[in-house]
Amino acid sequence: MPDVVTEFIRLVQIDSPSRNERALADYLRQRFQELGIMLTEDTAGQNINGTAGNLIGFLPGDAREPLLLCAHMDTVKSNQGIEVVTKDGKISSKNQEHILGADDKVGIAAIIQFVQDLVRKKLPHPPLELVFTVAEEIGILGAKELSITQLQSKAGYVLDSGGPIGTIVNQAPVHYEYTIKISGRAAHAGYAPEYGISAIQIGARIVTALDLGRVDEYTTANIGRISGGEADNIVPEFAQLTGEVRSHSLARAQQYLEQLRNTAVEVARDYGGVAEVRIKESFPPIQLPVEAKVIQVAQRAASKLGVEPQLVTSGGGSDANILNGRGISCANLGVGSYFEHTREEYIQTADFVLLVEYLKVIAEEW
Ligand SMILES: [Zn+2]
Repeated sequence: MPDVVTEFIRLVQIDSPSRNERALADYLRQRFQELGIMLTEDTAGQNINGTAGNLIGFLPGDAREPLLLCAHMDTVKSNQGIEVVTKDGKISSKNQEHILGADDKVGIAAIIQFVQDLVRKKLPHPPLELVFTVAEEIGILGAKELSITQLQSKAGYVLDSGGPIGTIVNQAPVHYEYTIKISGRAAHAGYAPEYGISAIQIGARIVTALDLGRVDEYTTANIGRISGGEADNIVPEFAQLTGEVRSHSLARAQQYLEQLRNTAVEVARDYGGVAEVRIKESFPPIQLPVEAKVIQVAQRAASKLGVEPQLVTSGGGSDANILNGRGISCANLGVGSYFEHTREEYIQTADFVLLVEYLKVIAEEW
């Protein structure tokens, strides 16, 4: 069995659900110390109520600009007691209770193996900055706590996309969450309905007035939850709608949200009620042009390995969104895993080996 797979199985057996990454963080600090790299831990753990913070390490290299590599430590679920099977070159969870956790322990295992090979074989490489984040799966919380002043790199890779090696995510949407709080006036539904202003009715009008679904070629919008009212015999005084907007165009997203705000406020006013709209950006977009160095290098390295580089537009968020938002150009790379977040998740041994090779060629080409 290749060393990288042995490392991966060890990582998978260290339970690390979101906010409970302590054991894995301790293991990684120890493991990288053996390789001569001190990983420092930031205060993200305290800030987000988790057991560990993000880990950051630096390996000096030649005169080239530093290359950042990032993977997240947490998994979507606990993996307590997982048994890993490798059969016909395929690595998966033995029983149905566990999700393998290739997302994102494949990324971590590949980085460990890559660094170990560089250090032990004394291969030339650019300065390497390593970032292992916490709580990615529950809202990219760890990356949001990263202090940019701690990082030296201007560019790099997040190893956290599913799909074949050669997959290069260079576009991902901006994501906003919003809440519309509607206030009407309570009244007895039977004795005095004319004194009431139904917040639920206002909410219903707002819902039908909004464009939802795929609203243009860049943008999707959704109302995910509706709540409100107290009892069947009271005209509801309060109601609330919550939803999200994603777009590959910042301008379109902002335009949509502006329209949403105006619609909500006007509809409520027409009924004599009030709508208060709160909008929060959950993560910024990834918008890396094909000419960007990270994209060029990733493409060239894939071609050298004999795999087809594929530029991919993602519909979701990852640590890469946050890093790009902080001015660090980061593409998210496919690591060769499939069916993440499901019990069918797997990765092939051959892809694992290829991924480590890919990192080496990237380091050469950087
Ligand atoms: Zn992931």
